[in-house]
Amino acid sequence: MKKLTILGSTGSIGVSTLDVVSAQPDMFRVVALTAGANLELLKSQIETYAPDLVSVLSEESARTLKRMLTGKKPEILHGVEGMIAAATASESTMVVAAIVGAAGLVPTAAAVMAGKDVALANKETLVTAGHLIMDMVREHGVKLYPVDSEHCAVFQSMVGHRNQDIARVILTASGGPFLNWSRERLASATVTDALNHPNWSMGRKITVDSATMMNKGLEVIEARWLFDIPVERIAVNVHPQSIIHSMVEYLDGSVMAQLGVPDMKGPIAYALTYPARIPSGVKPLDLTTLSGLTFFNPDLERFPALKLAYRAAQAGESMPAVMNAANEIAVEAFLGGRISFMAIAESIERVMDLHDSHALNSIEEVLEADRWGRRTAREILKVGAPS
Ligand code: NAD
Ligand code: MG
Repeated sequence: MKKLTILGSTGSIGVSTLDVVSAQPDMFRVVALTAGANLELLKSQIETYAPDLVSVLSEESARTLKRMLTGKKPEILHGVEGMIAAATASESTMVVAAIVGAAGLVPTAAAVMAGKDVALANKETLVTAGHLIMDMVREHGVKLYPVDSEHCAVFQSMVGHRNQDIARVILTASGGPFLNWSRERLASATVTDALNHPNWSMGRKITVDSATMMNKGLEVIEARWLFDIPVERIAVNVHPQSIIHSMVEYLDGSVMAQLGVPDMKGPIAYALTYPARIPSGVKPLDLTTLSGLTFFNPDLERFPALKLAYRAAQAGESMPAVMNAANEIAVEAFLGGRISFMAIAESIERVMDLHDSHALNSIEEVLEADRWGRRTAREILKVGAPS
């Protein structure tokens, strides 16, 4: 039986993970859960899955949750210390890293250092600290399974093949809600427009990242570290139907791809049970019902965030962490109605222009680069820190 910690259990990936668990109750036990502010949902998860330990963001939330629960209560912790305790709980054998943003880095790193296998949804962990995390994964002999659908597809397309025979990794991108919008129209895109993703139902931050295509840029950097492939050999193909989840091209010209109905329960189940395959609740794919699969190159003029991510990947060192931080601030400001859609990429570029990339030798140095990126982005956008 796998004993799970789920970091970010109340989010889109967290909830889908618990759906997979519920479908196979004999295979999993939930040991620990962490959540932000959605205490109602966390309460119902505690009642259903009876974890030993939960953690929430603030001390006040911890007190409120304690009052809300009747019957047998788990240990209730809060803050970063609480997330670390959940990530390193001695009972747990696998940690699902499903917090959004750079906030996921510290607990995910703690899980690796505690020798836990990790199912990684939180791509920002590898974007900000890829080289450090991959070194830790090797040093502690743990397994890191990708949950991101593209990386899960690449992983599946690499099984039975040799890394040195790979010519290219081809990540597919849906293109998001603005696939066919002109630059002029994009200038007046609203939050509602950006949150209207055609194929995937996800948290708000990643949905905006999909609209700017920064999500694909973050995924290029994620793939670079996960599969140890230089960024020059990671391509992006826009594929609006989201049926092929990504591909690997080999030296002999063969291309391996993974297909399926777009539903995160598929990659989550694969990460939880590799190499076994279990019924995941994903509907079967019937290719005869599709009118066609199309592919084209992304338009970097309309989606400059993707170009910025390639630039950050090439610069390496602290630049991806700074870019990621600037993106998180800009997306938050956009979602708050304070800046326009195109200002997201414009502000990230200005932050990157101001940054002198330097080597990052510890998680603390990554966090310092992250703080610099946030501070600089806030100054440029003239938005204050949240209270
Ligand atoms: P979400 O916003 O739906 O959920 C995020 C979870 O993290 C929630 O439980 C929330 O309470 C918690 N959280 C938020 N801020 C926090 C903080 N500062 N400290 C601690 N906990 C915090 O996000 P999501 O869509 O589930 O995405 C989670 C991660 O998975 C992201 O990194 C995203 O890029 C990645 N991912 C998501 C999908 C998807 O389909 N949703 C697909 C691929 C990758
Ligand atoms: Mg993805």
